[in-house]
Amino acid sequence: MPPADIYILQNSKGMKIQFFSAKPYDKQFFEQYNSETGFELEFLETGLRPGTTSVVERGAAVCVFVNDQVNAEVIRALAEKGVKIIALRSAGFNHVDLDAARAAGIRVCRVPEYSPEAVAEHAMALLLTLNRKTHKAYNRVREQNFALNGLMGFNLHGKTIGVIGTGKIGRAFCKIAQGFGCRVVAYDIFPDEQLRQAGVVYETLEEVLRISDVLSLHCPLNDSTFEIINKNTLQLMKPGVTLINTSRGRLINTKDVINALKAKQVGLLGLDVYEQEEALFFRDLSGSIIDDDVIQRLMSFPNVLVTAHQGFFTEEALSEIARVTLGSVARLAQGSEPENTAVILV
Ligand code: NAD
Repeated sequence: MPPADIYILQNSKGMKIQFFSAKPYDKQFFEQYNSETGFELEFLETGLRPGTTSVVERGAAVCVFVNDQVNAEVIRALAEKGVKIIALRSAGFNHVDLDAARAAGIRVCRVPEYSPEAVAEHAMALLLTLNRKTHKAYNRVREQNFALNGLMGFNLHGKTIGVIGTGKIGRAFCKIAQGFGCRVVAYDIFPDEQLRQAGVVYETLEEVLRISDVLSLHCPLNDSTFEIINKNTLQLMKPGVTLINTSRGRLINTKDVINALKAKQVGLLGLDVYEQEEALFFRDLSGSIIDDDVIQRLMSFPNVLVTAHQGFFTEEALSEIARVTLGSVARLAQGSEPENTAVILV
């Protein structure tokens, strides 16, 4: 491997950052916050995957989003191009082979806490929409249909809400649910004492699944959480349970949840993430034939609401993602460490 000092730039100004899976809103927010850091920014529509590493320029930093494939093969190709920094403009990092990055001497940073409230509020938006059927009422009233049949919901006040994973987003969601007068029960491998003092009751996973009227997933995707919702755990839940997932698609075995919807074991399902979302989300496919029969089946249920990974999508969150990412890349490029150690993964 070439000596490290070749890569530690003394002055990051003018250094290139190539953005993969870039959208107009990425350009807007990153350009706005780049006045101080002075990087050369290149926004590429293409995702990063084994077939697209040829566009990476020698020595550039690369900035990726949640559906880019940052596996060992991609990392090897980046290392060959002298890439020393991979910046994730996301909190989750399950799509990155951190061991491969470490072995290649590539630093990886992320944005651990850009706006937990953005995602927590979206989880509540999914829940309220599904429950009170405002998405259906909107269309109905526009057709001059003012009937209420089929729009009945239930009070959240007094219901038991189960939260799986009470980190930054889960904690924000617990507080929102408490504000609605819900009883909040939670499962986390590391319970949060402050939340406990605020009235959140920690239980085993099985107990949370058993007693909750509504379940909201806020744990990361890792080996211990992969398909945490499957035919066995679905059976433990209250018949007609409401399930909300704004975390990662593969927390749920989608085929099992489809069977549970057919059996009415799941009464309402709100998804902001989907296990095969890489091929669909973040692009306009209207008019196209969708090859994925699983999502088509999911979207055919009247009690399922799918949004395309938009939990993070607020002005506040995008501002923070741009500010933190550019600051982290600047520091790493200059050979210093970011102040917030949580941004560094490798
Ligand atoms: P966090 O790291 O602050 O919290 C995660 C919590 O999950 C921690 O408390 C951890 O102890 C817990 N946990 C880990 N393994 C567990 C297990 N096996 N069972 C139960 N709990 C477990 O993360 P966060 O910032 O709250 O984000 C949570 C997830 O939300 C991210 O990993 C990401 O997948 C997702 N996310 C989605 C969006 C979106 O736009 N929809 C945006 C940001 C993050």
